[in-house]
Order: sequence, then structure tokens, then C-alpha cells
Amino acid sequence: MRTQDIIAAKRDGQELAEDQIRNLILNYTIGRIPDYQMSAFLMAVYLKGLNFRETSIFTQAMVDSGATLDLSSVSGTKVDKHSTGGVGDKTTLVVVPILAARGLKAPKMSGRGLGFTGGTLDKLESIPGFNTALPVERFVNQVKRIGAAIAGQTADIVPADKKIYALRDVTATVESIPLIAASVMSKKIACASDIILLDVKVGSGAFMHDIGQARELARTMIAIGRNLGRKTGAVITDMNQPLGKAVGNALEVREAIDTLQGLGPVDFTNLCVQLSGIMLYMAAQCKSVDEGRDIARATLDTGAALEKFTEIVQAQDGDPRIIDDPSLLPAANHIYTVTSLDSGVVTGMDTARIGVAASVLGAGREKKEDGIDPAVGVIIEKKLGNRVEKGEALAVINANNPALISQAEFHIRESYAFGDPAELSPFVPEIIF
Ligand code: URA
Repeated sequence: MRTQDIIAAKRDGQELAEDQIRNLILNYTIGRIPDYQMSAFLMAVYLKGLNFRETSIFTQAMVDSGATLDLSSVSGTKVDKHSTGGVGDKTTLVVVPILAARGLKAPKMSGRGLGFTGGTLDKLESIPGFNTALPVERFVNQVKRIGAAIAGQTADIVPADKKIYALRDVTATVESIPLIAASVMSKKIACASDIILLDVKVGSGAFMHDIGQARELARTMIAIGRNLGRKTGAVITDMNQPLGKAVGNALEVREAIDTLQGLGPVDFTNLCVQLSGIMLYMAAQCKSVDEGRDIARATLDTGAALEKFTEIVQAQDGDPRIIDDPSLLPAANHIYTVTSLDSGVVTGMDTARIGVAASVLGAGREKKEDGIDPAVGVIIEKKLGNRVEKGEALAVINANNPALISQAEFHIRESYAFGDPAELSPFVPEIIF
């Protein structure tokens, strides 16, 4: 089977056979197919798509490219939440403790930030000592003992996705529904949870900019999950503005702790409660999503989720003193307020650009191998619908390198649009089961 024939078939819009897809993925993973051929194939898929049958085979072939996590020794219902990526999205840090505090098992394998989106592992590593590189046995034992662990995926889980995602990132082929669906679902399937909730972000800070695309991505991933025997649901949530106020690793950990203490921003708290409520319902812990939300909120209010977060930090060698004393988290040396040049109502935010501003300061990475600065980032003071007077703070830059402040400031200013508040309509999350 010649690789160029598979590429040509997809280029010409033909449906691929199972052995063509499997051959391509397995041989690429072991280095027998070069990057330039895989790049051409990915662009053909980007332009011509994959149908559902092809996407399912693509997903399974990615799962089969490596090992899968064995959670058979963990009793109870295992749940997994996955976000398609956004700006200021620190929900894992709150949702995992809520679910584990309710007796569910939450084995969470998370990723690192890339481009304008942040990553849970980078956020957690801003906690002094926190270890995200848990060997599988330690990961599984921790889930058995305290109900949750949050760590990086081991190198042998879905190696095909690691290579393909890195290639997509540099060949302008990330924003493809079948490729995103296969990438996300292969990792979810390999990590073996019984219940999967997909948080599909839509808006100016997400890969999906329109609700129709977000629904299609959600439905594709749900169908793949069900086809492969997992109870799968999705919720489409807003990424037309950053989630909460904090964007940047230690800043986001601080905001997550505030939220676990009942003092978090309303939009972020509500989303954590919503996601937890849906998962409690999917795990048959309650009779409706509304009841699930009430349980989730009570788990925050009683401090049970905060206690579980503390246990996770301790179990993974992190310094638990950061919970009562957040000044022990890394902090930036230069604090600079971006003030508004105009008065008006915020009616638009280019959210990806806020992510870029944080990334420019060192909170994110351009390339996989780049290091990050855990202390830096941006605190958003004005969000959609807020009235701003000239001279008032739009955002506060936390920087360690003062030379980068003006570039971050430029991106923040460019991200704000003022206009007629009548243009704004509230975003209502859509739950899809
Ligand atoms: N997140 C993933 O894991 N894969 C994608 O392709 C996009 C977002």
C-alpha cells in the first residue's frame, strides 16, 4: 500500500478503507512514514473531511498505537471531563475535587498548554513541589486511596496523537472536526473512564468559532464514545471571553482556590457547578442535572471540595500551605494596569488574544519544548457587558520581564471592543446527551 495513494484518495474526496487508515497511523507512529507525507494527508483531511466511519477507525487506530490505562482494580464509577481548550479554563482544579468528594473516582490525565490555550499540568506545577509525572501504579493507587489524581499522560498512551498533534500545530490543520474528535476521544478511550463529559468551547477563544461547528464536534465525539462503549455526554460552553478573571498558571491556581473557598468569580463557579452537576447525573448520583448542580454547590459550600483538593496537593507532593497562604505561590515582580483609552460598554473580546498576551509574558508556549514562567499572566478586570470609564482598569499585567509588558498591553487593548449593549445576548450552555 503506497502512502501517496492514500493521500491522493483523500485529496480526491474518496472514502478510505480501514486498512488504509490503520496502515497510515501505525506506520507514522513508528517512523516509517515521514512528516511530509503525514502533513499532506492531514491537509487533505482538513479540506475533504472524514465521515463518521472513517473518524471512528482513525480514533481506534490511534488508541491501538500505544498502551491503555488499566483501571480494572479501581472500584466505583470512574469519570472524566475534557475541555476542548480555552483561555482561563481551570475547571479541572475545581470539578475533580467536587466529584471525588462525592465518592466518584476521577483519574484525570491532563495536558500542557499550547499556543493561546492553557494546560492543567502547567497550572498545577506552579504549586511548589507538585508532581504531575506520576508513574501509572502510583496514579492508580492514589485514585483508589483518595478518589482522584491529576497527572500527565504517560508517553506510551496514544503516541500517535502526540506526533500527529505536534504536526497539526505547525501545518495549520488543528481546526478540523474529525481530527479534533479523534485526538480527544482516542485519549479519553485509552484512559478507560466509564463516563466522559466533553466541555466543547465555542467562541473567540476556542478552536470552534461557531455554534454549528461546536454542535457537530460534540455530536461526533459523543457518537465515537458510545460506539466504543463509553457513556458520553457534552456541554457546549462560552469562550467569547476568558473564564473567570485569571489567565496564567499560578494566578489561575489562586482563582481555583478562591472558588473552592466560595469566593470565586460567578461565571467560573457556575461552570464548575454545571459540569459537576451533569457528571453526577450521568453517574446516576441524582435524578436530574438540577439536583446534581445543587449537590455540587453544597460540596463547595461545606468545604468538602477544598478538603479534597488539599488531599490531592498533598498526595502529589505539593505544598498544601498555599491553600491558606497563596503568597507562597510564585508571584511576578512587575504589576502593570492597562487602563481604558475610551468610555463605553464592552461588547466584544478577542479572547484568543488575551491568551496570546499571557503567552507573550511567558505563561504559555509557542513550541512544545518551550519553558514557561508560572508567575506571570493577566487579571481581567472588565468583561462582556461591563461599563468602562476612560482611565479605568481593563486588565492587570503580571510580568517578570518588563520588556514584554508593552507587547502584552497591545494584545489586551486590541482584544477589547466597545459598542451597543443591545448587541450582546447571554450565552446559554447546551447539554447534549
Ligand atoms: N485538544 C486535543 O486534545 N486535541 C485537539 O485536536 C484539539 C484540542
